[in-house]
Amino acid sequence: MKLLFATQNKNKVLEVQQIIGDHHEINTLHEMNFDDELPETQDTLEANAREKVNFIYQKFGINCFAEDSGLEIDSLNGEPGAFSARYAGDERSDEKNIQLVLERLRDQENRSAQFRTVIALVINDKEFLYEGIIRGQITKSPRGEGGFGYDPIFVPDGYDKTFAELGLNVKTQISHRAKAFLKLKDFLESDFAFV
Ligand code: IMP
Repeated sequence: MKLLFATQNKNKVLEVQQIIGDHHEINTLHEMNFDDELPETQDTLEANAREKVNFIYQKFGINCFAEDSGLEIDSLNGEPGAFSARYAGDERSDEKNIQLVLERLRDQENRSAQFRTVIALVINDKEFLYEGIIRGQITKSPRGEGGFGYDPIFVPDGYDKTFAELGLNVKTQISHRAKAFLKLKDFLESDFAFV
């Protein structure tokens, strides 16, 4: 099946092509000569993923999917969540976002958190949502050089290294995004995708 991935993030395109690219043709917005930023004006991951996918489906009329991810910290009532990229301000600085999280958790014993991905898929006017979650703990200081975003302060449950220390090979096997995309893959390979 041919699907359009509603994102301008090249890293996400590569990750997704690794997971489902052998079975499905994934087209990018760049290939459609569309390089504008997508609308992302909502305050939940679900609503943002749906906003992006419906914007692109209405524009091109091609079956497509979009995803939105974020870090949700238990003792901060799920913050930064949908605001993960701009938690410390509009400049989208990973370093400042990390410092703000560490400051807000300074005297906090409960450091439990999760990364969560929501994928919205539209096939022939029908909409479907998939979720992937990985639970873990926020460290007291950043560790490791790999990854992006909050990777240096997130230790997934069952490991003693941060995502930034574990590296991409481990991360792409256990991450929130990988889990959500495997669900999408299962669905696309089931009969339901074509009804
Ligand atoms: P996006 O909207 O899916 O691009 O993600 C929003 C923000 O969530 C990113 O800019 C990161 O700050 C954070 N984030 C999402 N996924 C990850 C991840 O796998 N590692 C670290 N940070 C992430």
